[in-house]
Amino acid sequence: MSIPSGLDLAGRRVLVCGAGPAALAPVRVLLEAGAEVTIVGTDPANSIRDLADRTLVTLTERELQPDDLAEVALVVPASGESGADQRTLELARLGGRLAVQPSLPADQPRVTSGSVILVGGGPGDPGLITVAGLDAIRTADVIVCDRLAPHSALQAAKPGAEIVDVAKIPKGAATSQQRINALLVDRAQAGRTVVRFKGGDNFVFGRGGEEWQACAEAGIPVTVIPGVSAATAAPALAGVPLTHRHLTQGFTVVSGHVPPGDPDSTLDWPALARANTTLVIMMGVATLAAITAELIKDGLSPNTPAMTVADAGLPSQKAIFANVADIAAVTREAGIRPPAITVIGSVVNWRS
Ligand code: SAH
Repeated sequence: MSIPSGLDLAGRRVLVCGAGPAALAPVRVLLEAGAEVTIVGTDPANSIRDLADRTLVTLTERELQPDDLAEVALVVPASGESGADQRTLELARLGGRLAVQPSLPADQPRVTSGSVILVGGGPGDPGLITVAGLDAIRTADVIVCDRLAPHSALQAAKPGAEIVDVAKIPKGAATSQQRINALLVDRAQAGRTVVRFKGGDNFVFGRGGEEWQACAEAGIPVTVIPGVSAATAAPALAGVPLTHRHLTQGFTVVSGHVPPGDPDSTLDWPALARANTTLVIMMGVATLAAITAELIKDGLSPNTPAMTVADAGLPSQKAIFANVADIAAVTREAGIRPPAITVIGSVVNWRS
């Protein structure tokens, strides 16, 4: 989908017809253009549900009706099925509404051997995917994407590419890793070029290693296109250098998914408290109070500067600052939700 040139959608209502994976890219592009997005469609993809939950996107789970066109500046057919998209176009025409043409499925060229490309999409800003990553999106027959992948880059997918949303609903159902592995193998064995599209870098808390192994065991060639990890990008986008020649000689990135003291935790928190490197905590919104209490107990000064940055690289980016003793409470009071990263260390005071 491309927005008709000269059409300013900021603050205007746009109707997206279809809530499945084909709607992912148009919805992101419209949000980036500042539109007020209403989605009408049955069987929504998890990423669409999540967007409606987190942003001002309105999701109505039913078939399109003529009344839905009221006060709409633009209609976007995005069901991914040409019959349904043609009906939407006809309804828009009858209602006198501007509509964009849907991408029409193209015949798939026959290929004989499939492969999987692990593509890191960067932290969320569509400008932060690599040139190689975007090229892979262009050539893919199948794109298997997650919630944190920069969905507007899916605009570059070729017509007819199959887009599969395997997003986890926060605190809800997820496609199991086993099923994702099986899906990658199945599509590649059918001779298709499959892109596994994730946020950040696939090998940084991205289970890329497991996916690679599953493909290798099935004899499927795998290529890796690294991405810009949120671990380094989120602090940078908030103006915080992870290292600084006069302050610290390194940084440590850890997952906060499992809190200190949990039998599943394998991190040496006392060592982290003493390491004198910048500490970057990913997936730690829910466990931040337990983590910071443990670090202080283990000898980290309670006055150490800290920052939490959420939605880095997205229009909703937000950064908050406090010392390590207070950062968990301040993060909670600010209503911060994942994805967010907390950075602890003297470099935080060097924010530009
Ligand atoms: N593979 C990803 C990380 C996946 S784990 C990467 O390399 O970036 C998911 C965690 O990454 C989130 O819980 C959060 O801590 C962090 N994250 C991902 N995108 C983010 C963003 N845009 N802003 C802040 N944190 C982000």
